Amino acid sequence: MLTTLDRSRPAPLAYSPAIAAETAPLYARVARVVPQIEWPVHAPYIAEINRLKREMNAVILAHNYQTPEIFNCVADVVGDSLTLAREGAKTTAGTIVMAGVHFMAETAKILSPEKTVLIPDARAGCSLAESITAADIRLLRQRYPGVPIVAYVNTSADVKAEVDICCTSANAVEIVESLGVPEVICLPDEYLAQYVATKTKVKIITWHGHCEVHERFTGEEIRRLREGQDNLIVLAHPECPQDVLAEADYVGSTAGMSDYVGIHHPKRVVLITECSMSDNVAVQYPEVEFLRPCNLCPHMKRITLPKILAALQTRTTEVLVDPDIALRARRSVERMLAVGRR
Ligand code: SF4
Repeated sequence: MLTTLDRSRPAPLAYSPAIAAETAPLYARVARVVPQIEWPVHAPYIAEINRLKREMNAVILAHNYQTPEIFNCVADVVGDSLTLAREGAKTTAGTIVMAGVHFMAETAKILSPEKTVLIPDARAGCSLAESITAADIRLLRQRYPGVPIVAYVNTSADVKAEVDICCTSANAVEIVESLGVPEVICLPDEYLAQYVATKTKVKIITWHGHCEVHERFTGEEIRRLREGQDNLIVLAHPECPQDVLAEADYVGSTAGMSDYVGIHHPKRVVLITECSMSDNVAVQYPEVEFLRPCNLCPHMKRITLPKILAALQTRTTEVLVDPDIALRARRSVERMLAVGRR
């Protein structure tokens, strides 16, 4: 059989006994969720990325939805998008590589304007962030004059610059109530806004954005998962539809779900969210059995070890935010952080 070499792709890095020895402790950490057969492919990239980031004074921020070999083996800071941006701002490193999607890299740049922020694949978008624009916000202001607008951090810098305050899935109820008004627009995630509405007396006006990963779960799927599994604990993200949340034992943010496992140590658990999150929490809690109904985020999965290495080597793609937009967007994020400090 004839095969044609694809010369546009760099040859994979070679696995050697020295790299095997150097990366053995990292493999021990992820052995539960990364098959042994994959390690010779990942290990040379992990070794080279870790060498290069030290040489360049760079840090890698990795979201919970990144694959275990990225999350556990090359990241310096891990967590949800806000944790990444806040911790990224505290580092003394001059370069941040965002192993996440574009709005996360923008948020990191907004909070660290003096740093170089790189994203390994500039096409890593988000269905939720793309569901609304700054022009939509201006139209909402005309339609609902005087009603404050709360934007989930899963939005572009342009949108953050137009709204009154940001929120995360962990603090959305607190942020809405902090405004002290009877009516609030909460966007862009319709399901998160509906969930907030069940937890407050404030009237919530919603937008029609959805996360393409969480919206695919159904209540019927959860009921099927529970069949024959009396002790299964179901944790669900509030970006899921209401019939899913109604079936869950606990509803919470990515950090909230991880904390729940750490505090309660359930015998058997399922996380109704992006599937790499489950793998990454499983690494921390080997005594817990995780069921894995797998919905992947195609945007998050654009980030790979070879692309992280290329981003460091070529210092691309740099994420830039217009300084005026960055200033206004930063105010919305800082107002949210100030509520947390009250
Ligand atoms: S999981 Fe959903 S909200 Fe997160 S990046 Fe993917 S599409 Fe966006």
